[in-house]
Amino acid sequence: MTALKFLQAYPDALQDQVRRLITEGRLGDYLSQRYPQMHDVQSDKALYTYALDLKHEYLRNAPAIDKVLFDNRLDLTHRALGLHTTISRVQGGKLKAKKEIRVASLFKEAPAEFLKMIVVHELAHFKESDHNKAFYKLCEHMLPGYHQIEFDLRVYLTWREMQ
Ligand SMILES: [Zn+2]
Repeated sequence: MTALKFLQAYPDALQDQVRRLITEGRLGDYLSQRYPQMHDVQSDKALYTYALDLKHEYLRNAPAIDKVLFDNRLDLTHRALGLHTTISRVQGGKLKAKKEIRVASLFKEAPAEFLKMIVVHELAHFKESDHNKAFYKLCEHMLPGYHQIEFDLRVYLTWREMQ
């Protein structure tokens, strides 16, 4: 039985479905049928605008974002696909919190929903630091089907590693 390291948190029945798709050689088809649309966010500047638009739509009252960028040091071995940080800096005698979001570079070339899932996840952390009910409610509000997309993103990572 193949160990599915990205899907370990999911019930066996779901993992078995993925194993079946792998055995039948249909995993790539499953993904391309569900997620045919790639996004065109190709630079840090474009990613910043993308995140800002989402924030304006859903999280107007959350703190401003200072920086959003693709980061090729974020990788799967660290289990971090995205990262949000608040760096406090003294500026003009005042303490200022700088909010940053980093997205793993592998999402530059990925279906649109997966990039959105990562950005939505990190944005939601501006309001909720823990992965609690309120956090996932917010994610679901910003991206309907969030849980399914997170599962499929992990399927995508599994498929990607097989290539
Ligand atoms: Zn998180």
